[in-house]
Amino acid sequence: MEDQIKLSLPHLAGNENKYVKDAIDSTWITPLGPYVNRFEKLLDEYLSVENVVAVSAGTAAIHLALAILGVGKGDEVICQSMTFAASANPIVYLGADPVYVDSEPDTWNMDPALLRTAINERIKTTKRKPKAIVVVHLYGMPAKMDEIMAIAHEYDIPVVEDAAEAIGSEYNGRKCGTIGRFGILSFNGNKMITTSGGGAIICPDKESAQRALFLATQARENRPYYYHETIGYNYRLSNVSAAIGCAQMEELKWRVDRRRAIHGIYAEALHDNPVVAIHSNPGDEFNSNYWLSTILLDDASPISADELRQKMAEHNIETRLLWRPMHMQPIYSNAPVYTNGVSERLFSRGLCLPSSTTLSDQQIHRVAQLINDYTK
Ligand SMILES: *Cc1c(COP(=O)(O)O)cnc(C)c1O
Repeated sequence: MEDQIKLSLPHLAGNENKYVKDAIDSTWITPLGPYVNRFEKLLDEYLSVENVVAVSAGTAAIHLALAILGVGKGDEVICQSMTFAASANPIVYLGADPVYVDSEPDTWNMDPALLRTAINERIKTTKRKPKAIVVVHLYGMPAKMDEIMAIAHEYDIPVVEDAAEAIGSEYNGRKCGTIGRFGILSFNGNKMITTSGGGAIICPDKESAQRALFLATQARENRPYYYHETIGYNYRLSNVSAAIGCAQMEELKWRVDRRRAIHGIYAEALHDNPVVAIHSNPGDEFNSNYWLSTILLDDASPISADELRQKMAEHNIETRLLWRPMHMQPIYSNAPVYTNGVSERLFSRGLCLPSSTTLSDQQIHRVAQLINDYTK
């Protein structure tokens, strides 16, 4: 039997056992403790920022960011359609309505021109500005942030950067997640680094970081008894999870280098294939972490993306179709959407390739060879 080749596996190789044991021995097994503070400090340093708050999931981080921005019932929030549902669901948690915007073909992320159209149309239709914009750096590829931020400033609408897949990615030398008003990260098992489950919210200042912390810990007012003026959440990262995160941070630089090297191997091996295009940085300002290497099949391909996925599965190789856009999801079929056909085309033509840092060069070459064989 051929060995299994997975899309993206957690990679535990460093000091996880040591730090977790220490966290348990020290009895700090509550969502509070020295490893949480240390993990936040490591994230601050890595991102060259000062106000990262560690929470229990990337989804929780988006929820908190939107809550701090005052999103509530009756508001509309613009969200990239081509993404994972977790980018959008917190909009609904807050009683607001998502408005979906399609992608441009260079980065596969929010199309700035369509964003402008959407804002103008929503103002015309609802007589109100959208309350926030959620932009995603899909598969680690930075969105066109200069254009998006310029539009956001023009209309004075805050941007939440969903960098769940993009820790280590850079846009014009700036780390993804630090460009919008808020940024969010995910440390789920399949992401760049993991805390088994976790996330972080990158806040613009001390005040909003304190607000995030307050909301993430049940919104307890500072009194000698439990007193609540605000609805809070139980979203703080535990000290044990943070201990895993501290060990993972020691490996992050190497992990990003390795994911980029994996993309490089695919790019070279698929270079001469006329019907397969690997998704790569579309210009000098983009520096993807290549969390997942992804390809698009040309019209002339003798095999569809889903057929190729099935063929690869017969070899014990896990690939996956790209995210099915939110405007094509039953739960969001009634949401307003501004489309240009790009995300629908990506969904029907694209495939994510195994990109785990646990994979050898040889295994990556084997995957690429099979893709070449099946698309001949
Ligand atoms: C994983 C992911 C999230 C959610 O993160 P969790 O930590 O799993 O809650 C949000 N957005 C995107 C784009 C993701 O890939």
